[in-house]
Amino acid sequence: MKYCSQCGSTVDLQVPAGDNMPRHVCSRCGEIHYINPKVVVGCVPQWRDQVLLCRRAIEPRYGLWTLPAGFLERDETTIEGAARETLEEACARVAIKDLYALYNLPHINQVYVMFLAELAAPEFSPGPESLDVRLCREDEIPWEQIAFPVVEQTLRDYFEDRRRGRFQVRTGDIRRLPGQGRAFEVRLLGQ
Ligand SMILES: [Zn+2]
Repeated sequence: MKYCSQCGSTVDLQVPAGDNMPRHVCSRCGEIHYINPKVVVGCVPQWRDQVLLCRRAIEPRYGLWTLPAGFLERDETTIEGAARETLEEACARVAIKDLYALYNLPHINQVYVMFLAELAAPEFSPGPESLDVRLCREDEIPWEQIAFPVVEQTLRDYFEDRRRGRFQVRTGDIRRLPGQGRAFEVRLLGQ
């Protein structure tokens, strides 16, 4: 951040009185601009023994596969956001069921909230942000071409739970391992 959104003056990084972290503080009006993590909402859309995956038509991770998910909007609930993203990316209508996963991604300041969802009908097509949309059984999941670790983790949990016949909410942290390319550590709460 370079300029104050209140008055247009430059901002400085400094620790405000009574705070313990550096913030962007306006040099003229004194406004403190807090930058907080973003919430990403999405779902695992199920149809019988298949889940709906989208192939990304946008960066980052263009051409790779993902579950429908995106940034929560203002004036929107997490459930509304997950259904909206599924409609936008896959032109598919879902009924959102239970909460399924909450993952912290502190290295990119994101919190993922994923739900289980049921497709209303096996009707879908690529939205503007997708190259392709497909229903996949477990043996059809393109594991080597999944866009994000949080999506791979959610899919692995999902199929494990399916086999056990019981779905259990997962909570944990996913961090990029420093200096190791695209290597990530997944740490689940309680493990
Ligand atoms: Zn200002």
